[in-house]
Amino acid sequence: MKNLPDNLAAALLPWYGAHARDLPWRRDVTPYRVWVSEIMLQQTRIEAAKGYFLRFMAALPTVQDLAAAQPETVLKLWEGLGYYSRARNLHKAAKLVVEQYGGRLPADRKALRALPGIGDYTAGAVASIAFGLPEPAVDGNVLRVCARLTCCPDSVGDGKVKDAFREALRAQYPPERCGDFTSALMELGETVCLPGTPDCESCPLSSDCAAEKTGHPADWPVMEEKRPRRVQHRTVFLLEHGGRIALTRRSDKGLLADMWEFPNTEGDLDEAAALCQADAWGCAPLAIEPCGRALHIFTHLEWHMAGWRIRCGAAPDRFVWTTAEERAARYPVPTAFRAYKKQI
Ligand code: SF4
Repeated sequence: MKNLPDNLAAALLPWYGAHARDLPWRRDVTPYRVWVSEIMLQQTRIEAAKGYFLRFMAALPTVQDLAAAQPETVLKLWEGLGYYSRARNLHKAAKLVVEQYGGRLPADRKALRALPGIGDYTAGAVASIAFGLPEPAVDGNVLRVCARLTCCPDSVGDGKVKDAFREALRAQYPPERCGDFTSALMELGETVCLPGTPDCESCPLSSDCAAEKTGHPADWPVMEEKRPRRVQHRTVFLLEHGGRIALTRRSDKGLLADMWEFPNTEGDLDEAAALCQADAWGCAPLAIEPCGRALHIFTHLEWHMAGWRIRCGAAPDRFVWTTAEERAARYPVPTAFRAYKKQI
């Protein structure tokens, strides 16, 4: 692998000073705010994360507030963002920060890395942006920039490539502006060195970029072929009794752990089979109508869903029978079910 150009900071920092976007987490920078924003941004677009971040900070402005919150409160604030294990880990980590560090995040990469939900990237981001330490934060955006600067022939999915870029960047951190250097690299990847169409004419690194010189910068980074996602057919039930809708809680392990959902089963059940299922649950079905098909795509899995709305003559205890107010206040239902949430 070719070396990164020397002294990236000299070209990047003035550009960042002139072009940095005004983002909520860049105002009033504290370790807690940087941490929460980085966790939110892991699988969420910046525009979508802004409102969630502001709402989260208004409700839980300190680590102590987060540590003391009920799990439902945290999940409710996360509702719609997806990847809910991020919220659960954030909550667990906040409790540890209060118990072990007196409510202050540790100013040390390894100690940060040991907290639930904090990987190499987030530890680097918090250590550099919040504590001014020379710790790189290498996510997909930064990897893409590095791979293009060097015409890296290896797949950026290879952990060794990531480690090599992290160490090469570490050597370039300007001691007085570690946070800005991390933010500038991210900003370049998010706004200029874009996945399909890098805007090389606007890039402060273009004169040193190996990929730009080839005339085909979008040919990098080299990626491994992705495995196709698994497809799962599911049938979703909107079970209604006395104006209330049935919800059930998912297991505390695996996909969407601990979230509330509409009762659902594997398979694409037709009307007769759906009635049979509702009957087996003890719902004494009175009337049934279809309530649409929906698709939800997870990282490695697709749910192809068929919905049935069933009026029930009984409300078995196996479900929680909820009003709209209760669902809004207490029962976070993941976005995977949004096509059905809209109908109640
Ligand atoms: S010159 Fe183009 S390809 Fe190279 S880092 Fe800048 S935007 Fe990316």
